[in-house]
Amino acid sequence: MANTTGNRYRGGWQIIIKDRSICYHCKQEGLKPENKYCPNCGFPQNGTDQEQRKFIIDFRKKKSAIREAKTMVERGRNFLFIVAFLNFISFIGGGTVVLIIGGIISSIYVGLAFWSIRKPFPALLTGLIFYGVLNLFFGILAPMFLLSGIIWKIAIVVALLFALYSVKDIEKLQKETTL
Ligand SMILES: [Zn+2]
Repeated sequence: MANTTGNRYRGGWQIIIKDRSICYHCKQEGLKPENKYCPNCGFPQNGTDQEQRKFIIDFRKKKSAIREAKTMVERGRNFLFIVAFLNFISFIGGGTVVLIIGGIISSIYVGLAFWSIRKPFPALLTGLIFYGVLNLFFGILAPMFLLSGIIWKIAIVVALLFALYSVKDIEKLQKETTL
């Protein structure tokens, strides 16, 4: 973790670099006076005080953006569990065969939710497509089905889309903050 807890002054913190050969931000050693930027993390070791503070603030912003995006991915995963549950209860009362079909569909959602821990993008995308295809299928069989629980359906699709977008966002932000 970067040491950014310097002394507060004029609304910010003071960046004091005791050893110019060690990166203030990532602690990389062997920096030369002619290197304005740290070759490892890009910190402006020999830049101005303003540039250094801007780097630290941007870095913190990216870190908190990554945290927020991870929350969105988790929400998408939780929605897959919710879909599994809602799907299963909608199959109750139709006899054994119907219940088994419902159980199989719900198991697929649960499987996708667990898979999304390791491979979030393909798992969430598969979940969204599977959900869309099933809704279309049941919608063709019984058009009223599409309208039942429409708020939930919209919430599920939106949560999965946001989660997918967030996975890409995390990848991009993590490339920019390689620490
Ligand atoms: Zn560095």
